[in-house]
Amino acid sequence: MRNILVIEDSPLVLKILDHLFRKESGFQPVFCASYAEAQVMLETSASLFFAAFVDLNLPDAPDGEIVDLVMSYYLPCIVLSGTYDEQRRDQMLLKGVVDYVLKESQHSYEYAFRLLHRLESNSAVKILIADDSEATRNYIRHVLTPHRYQILEACDGDDALRLLQEQHDIDLLVVDHSMPGLSGFDLVKLLRQKMKRHELIILGLSADTKGSLSAKFIKHGADDFLRKPFYPEELNCRVMSTLERRDLMRALKKAAQYDALTGLNNRRAFYEHGQQLFVKARSGGHELSVAMLDLDFFKRINDEHGHASGDAALVGFARALAAAFPDALLGRLGGEEFAMVSQQDAHTLNAALDQLRTQCASIRYATGATPLSFSAGIYYGTPDDLENLLHLADKRLYQAKTQGRGRNYWQ
Ligand code: GH3
Ligand code: MG
Ligand code: MG
Repeated sequence: MRNILVIEDSPLVLKILDHLFRKESGFQPVFCASYAEAQVMLETSASLFFAAFVDLNLPDAPDGEIVDLVMSYYLPCIVLSGTYDEQRRDQMLLKGVVDYVLKESQHSYEYAFRLLHRLESNSAVKILIADDSEATRNYIRHVLTPHRYQILEACDGDDALRLLQEQHDIDLLVVDHSMPGLSGFDLVKLLRQKMKRHELIILGLSADTKGSLSAKFIKHGADDFLRKPFYPEELNCRVMSTLERRDLMRALKKAAQYDALTGLNNRRAFYEHGQQLFVKARSGGHELSVAMLDLDFFKRINDEHGHASGDAALVGFARALAAAFPDALLGRLGGEEFAMVSQQDAHTLNAALDQLRTQCASIRYATGATPLSFSAGIYYGTPDDLENLLHLADKRLYQAKTQGRGRNYWQ
């Protein structure tokens, strides 16, 4: 839970914020209604706060004095203002506040909370600024700093390429077009041959007044483009929205690959990765094992203890399976049916599955329930066709079931 210092005197705004904070499980507001109150709170407990929402017009500080106070404690400061004043906004951004948000609609309050969420994840976000002008690099660093990113600098395209090759965890590249040596544009083309959008976000920059350049940048793989000179807010908004888009893309990719209940590969991902393992094993001349696993009398668990207990049994089994076979490819093919591709031979796999069977008996998924049991069919052979080997393993699983369940059938 993160504490957020809210310095605001309007009862209406306090009511709205209180309502919104109740919907957020990760943030706890601490309200102060005046400069004096906030001063005491910060003097005694500044280190307990993650960030602050501040109102510029307080009864005992009518001219935004509160911002200097909050910033003197190095707290990220989000200004909530009732009126839009361009000069005042520029002044605030220059001071290094995270943002200047107008209290005018539900959307702007939501935006303020989005900022809080981003601040939480930004400290893990690495941004590389590639520009040959030191002044521009300093300006960009100054603009991005209040958002708590990790910032790196490169003085030209080649330097940027070197840093990206050395540090694989760089999330976002802000790149100028005209640089000596490798131009920003060429760098984007080069990078996109290897790195996809969810691996590296690219934001192009240029002082060029030709409108075609932005389109060219984007068509060659940049995610967005900014023409210099730009407002600090413009850069921050674009960085924030491209990061949000990237996170959404990653979440979608994850949802498409993993089974939501157990976290194992789903059927599609299992087959996709399985085919790759088969190709590799064929070219290396190795044999592979495939196994089909199915929980025994699972329907009874649902019938006798409820669907939630059935789910708990599936999760418990998947966890035990993943812990027992950290090097194998595992998947939930559907219902209570699981599959595995392993480098182990049938004999070793058979023994390991027997060991897992003993562990499964102690998985607790419902009070008074019978021990969890599973049957398995194992097939070890030349990896000619994944589908075919799974079919052969499935036939053996059927044998294990007909022979009484709670066993493996492997030869
Ligand atoms: P057998 O030993 O022959 O495998 O019998 P079984 O009861 O395990 O097999 P059956 O195929 O008859 O029943 C499987 C049950 O699994 C039926 C279905 O309602 C249940 N099931 C499928 N997916 C889920 C799930 O995600 N959660 C829960 N709780 N149950 C599921
Ligand atoms: Mg079953
Ligand atoms: Mg079944």
